[in-house]
Amino acid sequence: MQSWRDNLRRVTPYVPGEQPDKKKVIKLNANENPYPPAPAVMKAREKIRHLRRYPDPTASSLVRAIAGYHGLKESQVFVGVGSDDVLALSFLTFFNSDKAICFPDITYSFYDVWADLFRIPYEQKALDERFHIRVEDYYPENGGVIFPNPNAPTGILMPLSRIRDLLDHNRDVVVIIDEAYIDFGGTSALPLIDEYDNLLIVRTFSKSRSMAGVRIGYALGSEDLIRGLNDVKGSFNSYTMNQPSLVLGEASLKEESYFRDTLRKIIETREWLKEELLRLGFCFPDSKANFVFASHSRVPARDIFEAARKKDIYVRYFDRPRIDQYLRITVGTREEMELFVDFLEDYLFNINTGKF
Ligand code: PMP
Repeated sequence: MQSWRDNLRRVTPYVPGEQPDKKKVIKLNANENPYPPAPAVMKAREKIRHLRRYPDPTASSLVRAIAGYHGLKESQVFVGVGSDDVLALSFLTFFNSDKAICFPDITYSFYDVWADLFRIPYEQKALDERFHIRVEDYYPENGGVIFPNPNAPTGILMPLSRIRDLLDHNRDVVVIIDEAYIDFGGTSALPLIDEYDNLLIVRTFSKSRSMAGVRIGYALGSEDLIRGLNDVKGSFNSYTMNQPSLVLGEASLKEESYFRDTLRKIIETREWLKEELLRLGFCFPDSKANFVFASHSRVPARDIFEAARKKDIYVRYFDRPRIDQYLRITVGTREEMELFVDFLEDYLFNINTGKF
């Protein structure tokens, strides 16, 4: 006899960073922004009304605001519930070839989960020994390409010249660049969407705009790509964007100076953190994101991760081949990072004294 269990979709889900249920923690494990959203966002909460009604299914006010911000047409913008939603829909919309899609072996660990969920064949291309993407690996025929720039969890930025090279070798498939962390000092590939109608740029309000809890992501690309996304979304769930997030997202885009100021503080703290980590015996690729991916010359990453956790300091550890000696450390406020560095100093100095 057949059981319903035989027909169950079996998947291994993505594991997000731990969200500890405690107040006084130093939380450096989910690449969240340590600063609050712009004051205009907090103020706009008063404007949230009509919750009785369905929201605008086309999210037109937010689409217009994003298009205006980037100097694009509204028909070149698609919005979703965080960039995870936008990326998942993009997989569903664009990756329908029987050839394998390509992405790096060390990258955002949701990509293989979506590929498995949607039964998309994929090939993970090994980063080189310095964790750089080898563009030549993406030359052969494939079913599409996706990678984050800067890459996560390495923080390494790919320069535009190499992105152009990758695009020139992939004119017949959709290339998705996940720019979740681009605002922290990277050069965006956005200007290339006019030249390459198969290039989709995906962004988020979660990191640089301090709005992870609101869930807003968006995609920018040619009108044909955006139409494709809207059709698939409209075949899945009409009302993805709730009314409060439409209002709050629009408000965030109006406060450029606060946004720039927050980014500047995070970048300054990141550069300070890099110096401190070097002093303490860590090495890391040069990050242009709001995190540093660091490995200690002597002490196993897992031990540091566990000792920090006991002190209510949360960083991210991935027990995976090639990266199990690394910690991904989100850049918090300067005060948080000073406390983290104090912990490291104490831990690394006293590791053999039985204190930990
Ligand atoms: N892309 C990358 C590379 C990420 O690290 C994240 C954060 N987990 C996301 C996309 C998704 O972020 P969100 O859904 O909050 O926009």
